[in-house]
Amino acid sequence: MFHGLLKLPQVRGGVHPHGHKDRSAALHILKTELPEKLYLPLRQHAGAEAIPIVKVGDKVLKGQLIAVAPSEVSAPVHASSSGTVIEIGEITAAHPSGLTSSAIIIQTDGEDRWIDLHKLENPYEEEPLVLANRVAEAGIVGMGGAIFPAAVKLKQGTKHEIKTVLVNGSECEPYLTCDDRLMREKAEEIIEGARLIRHILRAYRVVIAIEDNKPEAIAAMQAAAEAYGVIEVEVVPSRYPMGSAKQLIQEITGREVPAGGRSTSVGVLVHNVGTVYAIYEALVYGKPLISRVVTVAGACVARPRNVEALNGTPIEHLFEACGGLESEPAKLVLGGPMMGIPLPSVDVPTIKGATGVLALAKKEIPREESSPCIRCASCVEACPMGLLPLEMAARSRAEDLEGASEYGLSDCILCGSCSYVCPSHIPLVQYFQFAKGELDTKRVAARKMEYTVELSLAKKARIEAEKAAKAAEKAAKKAARKKTVKPTKPAAVTQVAEPESAEQQEETA
Ligand code: SF4
Ligand code: SF4
Repeated sequence: MFHGLLKLPQVRGGVHPHGHKDRSAALHILKTELPEKLYLPLRQHAGAEAIPIVKVGDKVLKGQLIAVAPSEVSAPVHASSSGTVIEIGEITAAHPSGLTSSAIIIQTDGEDRWIDLHKLENPYEEEPLVLANRVAEAGIVGMGGAIFPAAVKLKQGTKHEIKTVLVNGSECEPYLTCDDRLMREKAEEIIEGARLIRHILRAYRVVIAIEDNKPEAIAAMQAAAEAYGVIEVEVVPSRYPMGSAKQLIQEITGREVPAGGRSTSVGVLVHNVGTVYAIYEALVYGKPLISRVVTVAGACVARPRNVEALNGTPIEHLFEACGGLESEPAKLVLGGPMMGIPLPSVDVPTIKGATGVLALAKKEIPREESSPCIRCASCVEACPMGLLPLEMAARSRAEDLEGASEYGLSDCILCGSCSYVCPSHIPLVQYFQFAKGELDTKRVAARKMEYTVELSLAKKARIEAEKAAKAAEKAAKKAARKKTVKPTKPAAVTQVAEPESAEQQEETA
């Protein structure tokens, strides 16, 4: 039992959902067997889709680059085992709609053969930018679910003064224990990764924040951090959504990230423990991000536990590794039950941001029928962002996006605490997801329109400039011609003498 010092929470709101963590947290991380096929989506990250550089029939090795990032806000994709590319096409996406997404499909050869990895003997001798680029090349994204390219965050050290690197080990979502197990089993590697991030960002301090319901992880991280004075392990209260970056920053530093602002504005950068571990593996061993720890849980799973899954493994394969499904799930979820995505089927593959896959029984999911709002204000009390969910929901439902925005829609972190406490079972967070989606669509359309206008103005300016240049060239030629046509010609004519003989006459005729 952990007896560390507990602080009173600094953050407002939040809820205490049942953890459901004991069963999966009790077992070691299991390495799953190779699946027959790997389905690697080209977009497993925030930003632009990666572009394939292999073709059907190509043999690939484990860790080989198979799709490149077209821009900085994107991430490359690597083969997660050796085999043959058998298709580049559409697969069912990890999205409730069941829509498709582009993917590279690899038939594994069972050999699991790596490419030659480029290790670094002493990464601390390298320039921060060189290390950040190595993280970009490894395709590492935020593994707590945010899937934002990690290298973009690491390069913030050149633009902002980062005082604190906050390693997020709070893992507040029910069911999920992948970070807990990783901290217990890879504490030294995570500490080394955190030190490397500190070196890249030139930060003063590193804080590992862990919720008080993970005593073994706290002890392991404290033991691994002991040798380094700049690394602190802070215990935070278990309260959902403590793992949200803004909440954690406030809890640890006492500073509030301003509405619409970023953590860099208060000198902090947050990385999930899984991301820190992946950064360590990339910087020290040159390993790209091809696998991750995934929690497989829910009442329908025979033996819930954490597995190390190769990216692109169908989730059905993960359920099989955990003893299979004992009953038909009422709901499949990628991630946690509060912020995760409902899945259309077990055919969907795991991706870089997949913290968990849940097969939930009917008794584990909230009642679907809702009743009218009784204005109890429970949602207001629960909101960690200090918003008025009931007002925002009323406006979102009426598709009054401007009104919802005035009530702080953009500050909503979609944590679902309001829906969780609502006695009328109103799916508040679903209204906000929808409204935010609509706003994003409008924003993208407006940006496209602006871009189109910019392009047409640029084209018009170019045509006018070309016209002006042609006119100037014509005028210059005309002027040059005038100069060369000398008015002395008539004089030359007058110089022609009168022929003196018939012979001369003929010559001049
Ligand atoms: S918690 Fe539900 S019932 Fe209570 S005020 Fe909010 S929306 Fe209405
Ligand atoms: S989903 Fe949004 S409105 Fe609801 S509690 Fe979370 S931050 Fe507040």
